[in-house]
Amino acid sequence: MVLPRDYTGQRCSMARALEVVGERWSLLVVRDAFFGVRRFSDFARHLGIPRAVLAERLALLVTEGVLAPVPGPGRRSEYALTDKGLALWPVLRALVEWGDAHYAPGGPPRVFTHVGCGGGVDPAGGCTRCGAPVPVTETVTAPGPGYGGPGPDPVGAALSEPRPLLRPLPGHERRSDTA
Ligand SMILES: [Zn+2]
Repeated sequence: MVLPRDYTGQRCSMARALEVVGERWSLLVVRDAFFGVRRFSDFARHLGIPRAVLAERLALLVTEGVLAPVPGPGRRSEYALTDKGLALWPVLRALVEWGDAHYAPGGPPRVFTHVGCGGGVDPAGGCTRCGAPVPVTETVTAPGPGYGGPGPDPVGAALSEPRPLLRPLPGHERRSDTA
């Protein structure tokens, strides 16, 4: 694994973690994986990320065991979060909360709720209604008050409705692009 920067000599777990998820786009790729994105082309379109950069980020995340290739339609592989990747969910949720508090004057663009219950998710990961811990597998994401409308891509369209996290996005229709 060759990285453009390193923190050699820093015996710091945060520095080690940032070597894996601290590059630009990496956490957004992981976030999209929680939203159910699995295909290279969907990551590329939803994030607007150059394909070469996306390929590099995905390769590192696979090497580090955050994502794993899984068989997709046809001969293409898709990408799914591993247990190690799923363990990043509280990190992402905390970053979203921080962003909501400081950079979302119109309210949170996205909200997270407890499936089947409708309660919100508090900063500790508990349900604001029933009090139970809300694991990622029981979390629904939906547009919030600061939602800016669906993007022009299939992922943005799918996220304009409430969706359980990790549910693979629909739309396995044939596409001309390959990855
Ligand atoms: Zn609940």
